[in-house]
Amino acid sequence: MKYKNYELTVGLETHIELSTKTKMFCSCEVGFAGEPNSRCCPVCLGLPGSLPVINRQAVEYAVMAGLALSCKINNSSYMDRKNYSYPDLPKAYQISQFDVPLCYDGFMTLSTGKVIRITRIHIEEDAGKLVHNKGETLVDYNRCGVPLIEIVTEPDFSSSEEVREYVEKLQHLMRYIGVSDCRMQEGSMRCDVNVSVKTAGCETLGVRTEIKNMNSVANMIRAIEYEYTRQSKVIEQGGMVTQETMRFDEAKGVTIPMRSKEDARDYRFFREPDLLCVHLDDKEIEDIKEKIPMLPSDKIKVYTEELGLSITDAQHLVKYRRISEYFDEVVRLSPCAIKASKFIIGQMFSLFSTEAEKEAFSVKVSPSQLAELVALFCEGKINSNLAKVTLDKMLLSGKGAMEFLSEEDMRGFTEEELYILCQKAIEQNPNVVSDYKGGKDKAIMALVGFVMRESKGKANADKAKETLKKLMTD
Ligand code: ADP
Ligand code: MG
Ligand code: ZN
Repeated sequence: MKYKNYELTVGLETHIELSTKTKMFCSCEVGFAGEPNSRCCPVCLGLPGSLPVINRQAVEYAVMAGLALSCKINNSSYMDRKNYSYPDLPKAYQISQFDVPLCYDGFMTLSTGKVIRITRIHIEEDAGKLVHNKGETLVDYNRCGVPLIEIVTEPDFSSSEEVREYVEKLQHLMRYIGVSDCRMQEGSMRCDVNVSVKTAGCETLGVRTEIKNMNSVANMIRAIEYEYTRQSKVIEQGGMVTQETMRFDEAKGVTIPMRSKEDARDYRFFREPDLLCVHLDDKEIEDIKEKIPMLPSDKIKVYTEELGLSITDAQHLVKYRRISEYFDEVVRLSPCAIKASKFIIGQMFSLFSTEAEKEAFSVKVSPSQLAELVALFCEGKINSNLAKVTLDKMLLSGKGAMEFLSEEDMRGFTEEELYILCQKAIEQNPNVVSDYKGGKDKAIMALVGFVMRESKGKANADKAKETLKKLMTD
């Protein structure tokens, strides 16, 4: 960034749709796409006389999200009406939480060690969708009343890279604990980005603009960088930044002030009279805590510190919850975690190409079948190559390792047999031997190859190399 004298400050408000079966206050189904206005009822349309009932699962998911981000949970929080008029909001108010949110005071630690404070997480309902088409605008209320959480951070980000890491980590975490699919393109995760600049070293923050409804990380970064430059220029030229709500024009790559509902600052919040407060006693909060799986960051610690995996392999395994749970199960049944991780990351992971496939991780080999194969390898009954070939057959057929391995295969390979084969390799390849003795160290690999072929892959390549070296220096 070229404005050296100005520092960037960003705060994020992230909306995440919860993966509940039904909406926040009625039993209409939650879903993506489909026939417009096919998933609505008097409650989510706000027809007179209808009464909302709070979705317990949504509250539970929101608490899970809060706990995963180290938030405190209010035993009693309140639903409020946020009043505004807009065509996508048939009730002319949104049920949200104003002064007493469900969760507060959390944080997320970035890879640099920097802590991003989470101010609050509250529950609310989504609005409908306006569909602009050839000069006319249609309204689809299917999304009306879909449960949302809004996660608000303190203005703690000082670069767009930090924003990227936060959003990606948040997305991973929420998917991992199973509260949302967080698909930015489909709108199940959307970010409002608050941006300001201030003179380097200055204590007070500058005036901010808020860019609404960003639906990709790449665009968020473009928008932040554009705003940083624009605001820096304004200040440098002696002007003042106006606090306003903006949208990002993806095609032009610029932010544009919006004249919208957000201009009216007064939402006339008041308690939702049709709902009781959201009450959770400590026992209920504990019970919800039990439902959260071990978080990716904690798992990475166990994998590296207790199981001896590399950090890269550990990160690979926790990227998708099913894969890491599959791995956990294999490790529970077999002693060799490192080998198991290599099979999963290498041979099994490469079967899938799309994100959805990786997330589903549907393989024909059960954890206990893989554990059996890994055990055969660890006990030295089969070598790495045979294990690999066998796993391929298992993945295609869903059958266990023993279906493909004979007594002969599992007999292993004795020191003596190896010795005899190495001698044979030397006898039959005099040219290679003289190359090696003449100083071409790499020539030995040709002899190792010979031994591997003759033993049908059963010999251990490292041991063969060692034996060959000894034989040729004696
Ligand atoms: P509102 O409710 O009007 O959107 P809030 O005070 O709740 O305003 O702040 C919303 C978001 O704006 C928060 O994420 C906060 O961190 C961020 N924010 C507040 N002040 C600044 C600032 N000066 N620069 C950047 N972000 C800011
Ligand atoms: Mg806001
Ligand atoms: Zn409904």
